[in-house]
Amino acid sequence: MEPERLFGIIFAAVLGGILGSFVNVLILRWHSGKGIGGRSSCPQCKKTIKARHLIPVLSWLWLRGKCAYCGKKINNQYVLVEAAALVLGIIAAMRWDPFAQPMFWFEFLLSVALIVPFVMDLRWQELPVEYLIGVGLAGLAFRLFGLWGSTVYLTGLGITTSIFALVATTVFFGLQIILSKGKWLGMGDFYFGLMMAGVLGWPLVVVGVYAAYILGAVVATVGLALGLVRRKSKLPFAPALAAGTMVAVWFGPQIAGWLKYAFI
Ligand SMILES: [Zn+2]
Repeated sequence: MEPERLFGIIFAAVLGGILGSFVNVLILRWHSGKGIGGRSSCPQCKKTIKARHLIPVLSWLWLRGKCAYCGKKINNQYVLVEAAALVLGIIAAMRWDPFAQPMFWFEFLLSVALIVPFVMDLRWQELPVEYLIGVGLAGLAFRLFGLWGSTVYLTGLGITTSIFALVATTVFFGLQIILSKGKWLGMGDFYFGLMMAGVLGWPLVVVGVYAAYILGAVVATVGLALGLVRRKSKLPFAPALAAGTMVAVWFGPQIAGWLKYAFI
């Protein structure tokens, strides 16, 4: 590997770790409605956390997952989110050059941004609707300005394909909410679908939603078989939608190509 590529991957890993700790703050502040700002503090003893204890992943390893003051165990969410963002940075940097290809920033920032609804739905069954709309609009802008449209990608760039994706998603998710009276899907999932339409456009949104349903079904089946979930319990769907979105980004063009081949 050339030194520049290796440097790009290390750069992305470090940036991923830093963004991951920011994502942790976003998740907690959005959950408790305190707004962003102020220093992070230990949820147990309320002491403000020192800068040297805020180094992503490394601080957690150094302190063995405990608060430096009161010694209480810190929720695993912190280190898992930091590690996930770090790995997502490495994946994006292995696919694109951070210093030469804007697609790196699209994939990296989108995948890290998706951690917020992923964790919030998993932990508290709640979704940040304004946040999802913001991510959707940012993704839409990125696509409309043509950065997503390298020759590798099949997705439509124009406003027409974006509107088509939005209408299709609205109908698809809206019908399920109406038919199930909100039992299958909640309004949060509806906004998640709109976000996917904005970010992915047509036809990749189809790949993303389809992948989410398959992943959701697999996880639910395995969970039932292992006795981890009960038959009646409502499973959070946003983690599957987030994973489906990234499947569409990483493998969508190939999958859309196969689908085209299969149906025409
Ligand atoms: Zn503490």
